[in-house]
Parts: sequence; C-alpha cells; structure tokens
Amino acid sequence: MHNTSWDVIIIGGGSAGLSAALQLGRSRRRVLVLDSGAPRNRFAAHMHGVLGRDGWSPLDLLAAGRDEVARYGVVVEVADVTSASFGDDGFQIVVDGTHHIGRRLLVATGVRDELPDVPGLAEQWGTGAAVCPYCDGWEVRDQRIAVLASGEMSVHQAQLLRQLSTDITYFVNGSDLSDEARAGLVARGVDVEPRRVDRVLADEDGRLSGIRLVDGAEVPIDAIFLHPRPVPNDGVLRSLGATTTELAGVDWVAVDENGRTSVAGLFAAGNVVSPRTSVPMASGSGNAVGAMINADLVEEDVRLAAAASGASLA
Ligand SMILES: Cc1cc2nc3c(=O)[nH]c(=O)nc-3n(C[C@H](O)[C@H](O)[C@H](O)COP(=O)(O)OP(=O)(O)OC[C@H]3O[C@@H](n4cnc5c(N)ncnc54)[C@H](O)[C@@H]3O)c2cc1C
Repeated sequence: MHNTSWDVIIIGGGSAGLSAALQLGRSRRRVLVLDSGAPRNRFAAHMHGVLGRDGWSPLDLLAAGRDEVARYGVVVEVADVTSASFGDDGFQIVVDGTHHIGRRLLVATGVRDELPDVPGLAEQWGTGAAVCPYCDGWEVRDQRIAVLASGEMSVHQAQLLRQLSTDITYFVNGSDLSDEARAGLVARGVDVEPRRVDRVLADEDGRLSGIRLVDGAEVPIDAIFLHPRPVPNDGVLRSLGATTTELAGVDWVAVDENGRTSVAGLFAAGNVVSPRTSVPMASGSGNAVGAMINADLVEEDVRLAAAASGASLA
C-alpha cells in the first residue's frame, strides 16, 4: 500500500474544515482534506447572514473555498471516511488503497438533521421548511409562518419569528407548553394551535401550501420553522476514544476553546461539536482551530529541533 504523510488530515470539507485548511495551508503545512460532499445546508439554494456572501449558494461558497485552499497546496479529495486509527507515526486513514498518516487529525464533519416524523415535511426541508430565523426568516417576513414545536427552543424560535411577521402559528403537536410560555406567545399575538399535525401539504408544483391537522382542518401557511434533532457525524471521533458531554439532550464530543478533544492530537471544529447553526460560526471555529493546530505543531517542531540539535529547553 502507498503511504503519504501529512502535517494535518482534515475530515470534512465544509465551512469549518476548509477554514481550518486555509489557516494551515497558509502556514505551509501539508494538509489533506477528505470530504464526502454533503454539507448540512446543501438543501438550500441560497444562504443568508453570511457577510460579503449573503444570498450565495452554499455549494458555490464551498467550491470557492476549495479553490482558495488549493492555492496554498492543500489537497482536497472526495472520500467518506468511516474509520481512523492512531499508531506510532500519527493518525492513520486508508482511502482507496492509500495509507494517509497525519501528525494531527481535525474532524469537521458537521451534523445531520433528524426531522420530526411528519409526512410531507422532509420534502420541504431547505425550501418551505427551515431551522434558522436568521438564515431564512427575512425571506418570509410578513408571511404566514408556522412553528412546529419540536424541541425546547421552539417557543424561543416562535418569539424570534414574531419579530418578522404578525402571522405566526405555534403548532403544539402534543409537546409540553408551559403556562408561562403560552402566555408569552399569546401576549405577542401568536396563535397557539393545540390540535395535532397530520401532514404538511404542498401545491401541485411541490411548494409548501399548508398544514393539515388530524381532524382534517387545513391551515394555509407559507413557511415552517422547526428544530430538527442534530445528530453529530462523530463516528470517527468516538472510535478514537474522544469523550462526550451532554447539551440539550444531545451527546456532543467535548472540546476545549481551542478545539482539542480528550485525545491528544485529535481536534474538532464546527457543527460536529456545536449546535450553533451558521456558516460564519462554523468558519470562525475552523479558522481558530486551524491556527491552534498550527501552534501545536510549532511547539512540537521546537521540541524536535531542540532534541535533534542537543539543545536543552529546560
Ligand atoms: C436547510 C439549512 C439551511 C441553512 N442555511 C443557512 C444560512 O442561510 N446561513 C447560515 O449561516 N447557515 C445556514 N445553515 C447552517 C449551516 O449549514 C451550518 O451551520 C454549517 O454548514 C456548518 O458547517 P460545518 O463545516 O460544521 O458542517 P457542514 O457544512 O455540514 O460540512 C461538513 C462536511 O463534512 C463532510 N462529511 C461528513 N461526514 C464525513 C465523513 N465521514 N467523511 C468525509 N466527509 C464527511 C460532509 O460531506 C460536509 O461536506 C443552514 C442549515 C440548514 C440545515
């Protein structure tokens, strides 16, 4: 098998992984990015709240990012990495018969969104149905907006959207709603719909048109917001022994403020270790962690150089 050595292997070439790659490539590190090509926001034609790139296609942004990192010698390959190991030389990943060895491993594989089991909802994901008011709220301002209760942040989401439209309906759909939360919604003119949801409706072109309730009543709507359950793509991190911490009912691999996991040399950035839902936050995380990995390598380079020259660092 062919062996290739890298300073850093990055699994995941979304905003977090490519931002880290940019920092590392510009630091003249040998960097390999392995990416399966399915960023979280691939369902959306446009992204918003991204300064300088507001309204761009998310896939165009990443294509531009791949071009940018290539200028600094970063190699990006298409691969779905299912396992990695740690040996004497560093982290090891086999892809298509090549044995890649990295001094450091960064995992930036994002999350997948587990939608509530409501018929017709998945077909609208990224078009009529969205998660983030900051990403997709402005586009439906003053329209008929549904909030489908689907997590502890749903009431907050409805209150955020009330900022953008007076026509908000909160579909309780069998979830718990405290008296205080209900009072807050009603006080701001949000309709609270107690009946359960049967299915999401679309017109003949497939565009979202409404929500049908279990008693057959139909509520016309223009947009649905919900909180899917984030499922971190963290199989590689866990297989290497990274410890986790619970936040809002989800076990996240634990990282410090520099992206270090509990495993020496193993880093993580972006949505795979954080519920924060935005491209700039993922980029910022990758940018910071990329710089930290370079600093970590510099420290090791100093130790190695001192050992080679017989200098004492004590
Ligand atoms: C429908 C929708 C719309 C959104 N709209 C916006 C918006 O308008 N503005 C905004 O700021 N944010 C938006 N977001 C949030 C944004 O998508 C995420 O916050 C951001 O993509 C996180 O970046 P990331 O790099 O951490 O993960 P991702 O962008 O998900 O990238 C992870 C990468 O890792 C790869 N990968 C995963 N597993 C493996 C593996 N095993 N091997 C190799 N590669 C792997 C994936 O293919 C992917 O390319 C939206 C989210 C959704 C769901």
